[in-house]
Order: sequence, then C-alpha cells, then structure tokens
Amino acid sequence: MSDKNSILICDDEPDIVSLVQKFLQLDNYNTLTCSNGKEALKILEEKYDEILLILLDVMMPALSGFEVLRTIRSKDSYNDVKVILFTVKSFKEDIEKGTELGADGYVTKPFSGNELRSYVKEILNN
Ligand SMILES: [Mg+2]
Repeated sequence: MSDKNSILICDDEPDIVSLVQKFLQLDNYNTLTCSNGKEALKILEEKYDEILLILLDVMMPALSGFEVLRTIRSKDSYNDVKVILFTVKSFKEDIEKGTELGADGYVTKPFSGNELRSYVKEILNN
C-alpha cells in the first residue's frame, strides 16, 4: 500500500468543487482543490507524492481537462496517478477522446454523491 491519500479536484465551478470535496472527505481522503488546469498541473508537480487521483473537469476556460490530461500522460513519472474526467453530458466523443488520452474513468454531471464515492473507490482499487 502506498501512503498517498490525496485527491485533487479541479473544476471551474466552485459549487461542484465544494460538493465533491464534502463527499470525498466522508471517506477520509485528503482533498486538494483548484479551479483551472494550470493550477492543477502546478499542484500535481508540487504534491505528486501525495496525490492518488485527480477529478478533472473537461469543460474549463483556457486549459481544458483534455489538455491537462494530455500533459499528465506525457510524463512517465505521473503514470500511477489516476484521472477521472467530469463530463457535462455523456458525449460519446468525449469518452472516446478521454480514453485515447489515458483517462481512467468518467463521471457525468449531474452525479449523485454516493455514486461518486463508490466510483472513486472502484477506480482506486483497479
Ligand atoms: Mg466546467
């Protein structure tokens, strides 16, 4: 077992970030949050040793979740960090694109807190 215990939540909608944070804290994860892709990459670089998983919104201004994912997967040293994408609609093209870029899973908004919690556990146990 690794002693990593943090989940990074990146979404440009603050309400989503705080909601997700509340649910994940119920399962005793440490949470890190940010509102854009540039920050997400910075936090990942600084706190890589702590981060198990990134919950990453696809639709964000400036740097999209896809671009952030592409950057993460271009670095071998980040191989073991899991990434779940938040997609607004279950657009088939989004899921295909995310899979190609190396996403580990998808959560479609709107989502239920309990579904999110069990999905996160499932992805982390894979
Ligand atoms: Mg968004």
